Amino acid sequence: MKHIIILGDGMADWPVESLGNKTLMQYANTPYMDMLAKRGCCGMLKTVQDGFHPGSEVANSSILGYDQNEVYEGRGPLEAASIGVDLAPDDMAIRCNIITLEDGKIITHNGGNLQTDDAAVLIDYLNEHLATDRVKFYCGVQYRHLLVIKGGNKHVVCQPPHDHPGEAWRPLLVTAATDAPKDNELTAQETADLLNDLILRSQDLLARHPYNVEKAERGERQANSIWPWAGGYRPHMVPLTKTFPQIKRGAVITAVDLIRGIGTLAGLRVIDVPGATGLADTNYEGKAEAAIKALETDDFVYVHVEASDEAGHDGDLELKLKTIEYLDNRIVKPIYEAVKDQQVAIAVLPDHPTPVAHRTHTNEPIPFLIYAPGTEADDVETFDEEACKKGYYGLLEKDEFIKAFMKI
Ligand SMILES: [Zn+2]
Repeated sequence: MKHIIILGDGMADWPVESLGNKTLMQYANTPYMDMLAKRGCCGMLKTVQDGFHPGSEVANSSILGYDQNEVYEGRGPLEAASIGVDLAPDDMAIRCNIITLEDGKIITHNGGNLQTDDAAVLIDYLNEHLATDRVKFYCGVQYRHLLVIKGGNKHVVCQPPHDHPGEAWRPLLVTAATDAPKDNELTAQETADLLNDLILRSQDLLARHPYNVEKAERGERQANSIWPWAGGYRPHMVPLTKTFPQIKRGAVITAVDLIRGIGTLAGLRVIDVPGATGLADTNYEGKAEAAIKALETDDFVYVHVEASDEAGHDGDLELKLKTIEYLDNRIVKPIYEAVKDQQVAIAVLPDHPTPVAHRTHTNEPIPFLIYAPGTEADDVETFDEEACKKGYYGLLEKDEFIKAFMKI
């Protein structure tokens, strides 16, 4: 039996009054997911372990069976894996935005829509002037880059720049965590000092770079400061091929860096799909096609579709309904139709709710369905947050979902 997980990021939601107190998954027209729920078995899964925030990196790696207490290292190391930076055991990897400052304040976390081509030039320039045996910058995508500090201590308190638009930046500089252990060459205080020194020097350098000089002349937003946050060490993730020997070769399909990173560290190959954007305009057909093709050569495929989460963050009810229906008829349908006569088990689930009324993630358990040809069905007839509570699997947590799925 081969296995495919189809993940609708942030798809779960709360009952909405204007939908007659139905959730979006209940209201949306999703004949294929409902059919698979009806023919398969359902349940609920706690994807956010106690003590962790309901981030997509937490929820997606939990779905794959990883215990957050063992593997959680935050975004930095996952993004390093995503862009192909192999971390040494004493490396601290930290996300490094290039942001816009004006009049002593953070104006945007995205460097005024900085594009990757321009960012690559700025990252080269920063390396030329700031890189040492200990410090190196790596270019990621648009404003999202990476800084690796050899011997850096991850126990520093950084402020995500997207949480502080319009605020003065100086009070938001990096500090050492209280009671930080010395688990690497540098102390937390030395690491914080180093990061702050890099921030200040990057501001001097970037202000003089022709890219920003031209932006200033045109009265446009400059990309004039680095802003590091979310640092960590290389996570100890056992590849899925080891945990589940029936997986000889697996693949992940996603537009999101963090999920690419998780997939890479889980031992999956990353399949890039042109036009995969992470938004409702993503190339659904391309992703479905890539998944079907991957199932010809691989035993395990993880297809991640971000669009519902973004619609949830925007608080856009109509758009989120559409993204759920798109997932059904542009991902689940073509994949099911292509593999229905083969030995392929299909699971569909969100990673966490992103309720449109709340506009950010919550940590409630999410509904899942597992379908495989020839298995017995439970009594659940539709795929949604309420119906799945009565499913055969009940409420699962930790690695119980992936183990149950891989057992088929
Ligand atoms: Zn989100």
